[in-house]
Amino acid sequence: MNVLVINAGSSSLKYQLMCPDTGDVSAKGLCERIGIDGRLTHKVPGRENVVSDIPMPTHAEAIQAVLNILVDPVSGVIKSTDEIDAVGHRVLHGGMAFTESCLIDDACIAAIEKCIPLGPLHNPANLMGIRACQAVMPNKPQVAVFDTAFHMTMPPKAYIYAIPYEYYEKDDVRRYGFHGTSHRYVSARALKMLGRENNPEGTKIICCHLGNGSSLSAVKDGKVVDTTMGLGPLAGVPMGTRCGDIDATILEYLMGRYGYDIKEMLNILNKKSGVLGISGVSSDFRDLEAAAEQGNARAQLALDKFMYEVKKDIGAYAAAMGGVDAIVFTAGVGENGPELREEVVSGLEYMGVKIDHEKNQTRGKEVDVAADDSKVRIFVIPTNEELMIAQDTAALAR
Ligand code: AMP
Repeated sequence: MNVLVINAGSSSLKYQLMCPDTGDVSAKGLCERIGIDGRLTHKVPGRENVVSDIPMPTHAEAIQAVLNILVDPVSGVIKSTDEIDAVGHRVLHGGMAFTESCLIDDACIAAIEKCIPLGPLHNPANLMGIRACQAVMPNKPQVAVFDTAFHMTMPPKAYIYAIPYEYYEKDDVRRYGFHGTSHRYVSARALKMLGRENNPEGTKIICCHLGNGSSLSAVKDGKVVDTTMGLGPLAGVPMGTRCGDIDATILEYLMGRYGYDIKEMLNILNKKSGVLGISGVSSDFRDLEAAAEQGNARAQLALDKFMYEVKKDIGAYAAAMGGVDAIVFTAGVGENGPELREEVVSGLEYMGVKIDHEKNQTRGKEVDVAADDSKVRIFVIPTNEELMIAQDTAALAR
């Protein structure tokens, strides 16, 4: 079976053609500058990348360009689009409507549209991707996989905000959480590494998805009981350019002092904050590590702040679950940053967390880096959201 996995942004669209049973990716790529001019980068394992400028006034032309290159006699990997069995879409916000993935029909589209106020930047783009696929592949089953869905098992005390209750009742204001597909994938892998995939009752896992965007989740009995992101993806630990949790008083204070309107203020908190904001150097952790090594104190402070907040949340989630069996590191920084992992878990020995310095030198592969006598396992697990999307899509399409 072949599933085409689509992640549509406002001016970009990522795709992967993969087999949901083996996880093998036959081709993947990226359409950029949709609505401006259009560029396609197509990658097939073992071959040179193909980059072509193709006019993409809308997402429909982008999808058509993807299908054309997938069946191209030279650059393609399939003979005809008949070999694509189903299409899976990453959708950011499922609100309270979606606790799991969903076969796309008119009712599903209407429900995703209803979530636009909750995900104003992403849901419209995700819908453009869905509609474009419907236009060019009207008879293929399509599935929506939501970033929020895995977190919908949180109990009310974790998801409710301490503001007037009517905003929850009338306006759906609550914690939703994001990166749910990644948390779901790595927590399932962690259960397998613990030998508990068929018996998750009683397990306690803390997942640290640390990348350009970062979030942690507390997964008890295989289900999320808390997560750091909130109504939107601005909350939680500091990120590449996002501020994470801050005191709302700061908004009023800075808006008053500088005359910012709410859009300008949110632009600062989304695009100019996080480790970029503290360091003034970069949002990329590799640049920060290089600058800190050369003595840049603010780059070091940005790293220290990030690691400190991740460590604090690990402590909080151990408290919330009454212990922890495994801490999982995933995403760009979590998978590739041994020093950062070591720093995050240092000082947690009192909880039975002990890392093995040598084992921890690994990058980008699935491994237990805890010391043999550590009570808590420490797993590095490369995330694979696309595989989750493909598997959900296959299950619903079948
Ligand atoms: P993601 O959002 O998951 O793609 O992660 C992006 C972040 O991962 C960036 O800040 C990168 O600096 C970081 N990253 C990616 N590869 C490496 C690496 N080999 N070493 C350290 N950090 C990395």
